[in-house]
Amino acid sequence: MYDCIIIGAGTAGLTAAIYLRRASKKVLILEAKSYGGQITNTLTIENYPAEPHISGFDFATKLYNQVKDLGAEIKFEKAIDIEINNSNKIVVTNNSKYECKTIILATGSDNRKLGLENEDELIGKGVSYCATCDGNFYKDKVVAVVGGGNAALQEALYLSDIASYVYLIHRRDEFRADKDTVNKFKEKNNTEIIYNSIITKLLYDSKLNGIEIKNNDGNISKLDIDGLFIAVGRIPENQNFAKLINLDSNGYVISSEDCNTNIPGIYTAGDNRTKTVRQLVTAASDGAIAATEAIKYLNTK
Ligand code: NAP
Repeated sequence: MYDCIIIGAGTAGLTAAIYLRRASKKVLILEAKSYGGQITNTLTIENYPAEPHISGFDFATKLYNQVKDLGAEIKFEKAIDIEINNSNKIVVTNNSKYECKTIILATGSDNRKLGLENEDELIGKGVSYCATCDGNFYKDKVVAVVGGGNAALQEALYLSDIASYVYLIHRRDEFRADKDTVNKFKEKNNTEIIYNSIITKLLYDSKLNGIEIKNNDGNISKLDIDGLFIAVGRIPENQNFAKLINLDSNGYVISSEDCNTNIPGIYTAGDNRTKTVRQLVTAASDGAIAATEAIKYLNTK
């Protein structure tokens, strides 16, 4: 029997594990993919306190090792359901079942897709959701990035140092991304922004070779590119728990800053919950709060 099962080994989940282990609670972390979560796709983190420059991978590895050293158990299994057994909970994975007293849902989010025909089939053949993972395949080639948030602008800026030319395609003429990053991208001499436009078709033979674009006036044009990087936001990974946990219309766990859910003893932390600022530092903050709430619950039982 675990005191707490943390679902998700991203920044929120791993931070929660630090707090729980330091309170001597028995902790199991379940992770469906690899440790670190979304931050491992970030080339350089420059906005985390006391870490002026660190790669996302190094940050995640330091955090993972810290949690392992504190004695948390980690299993690489996908949590697919939660069952309630009197005051205890059971987490069902693709492999097994684990009983616990509290749960922290730190499931994070997955890439939002454009929903274009053959988008899935072309992943790895010209379509990517991660410039830091796949950017090097496009050395001296022409690429496009779609999106107008910080992720898109950072990916586009990163690619401008590798690819020969980078188009940024955005459906509006205003960006959600920080002005500073937008300006850095504009200052490059191998970049171009295509405003007020959406991608309507992926063009390919054995791999992607172009895209069809439609602007707000309805004009359709073709762009020859070797790679398309899609950065149009993320979708919370809570679907497996929707029958038990209250989610909002976008699939986020409904929660306030105390990280509680509608079920006593089940908490949420990080990008999968309703919140206004989704940053590394707020993921860590959520992890600390959710763990503290779980410890309070455990100590009253
Ligand atoms: P985001 O801020 O939600 O931006 C998503 C972008 O994709 C928006 O510009 C949106 O357009 C566009 N979009 C959505 N659906 C689309 C579609 N079907 N077709 C075309 N465009 C579409 O998402 P994000 O950039 O992934 O960032 C998520 C969060 O992480 C944000 O809070 C962000 O600040 C944060 N983040 C921070 C950093 C950092 O601090 N270093 C780095 C990366 C991300 P509209 O603007 O028209 O809605």
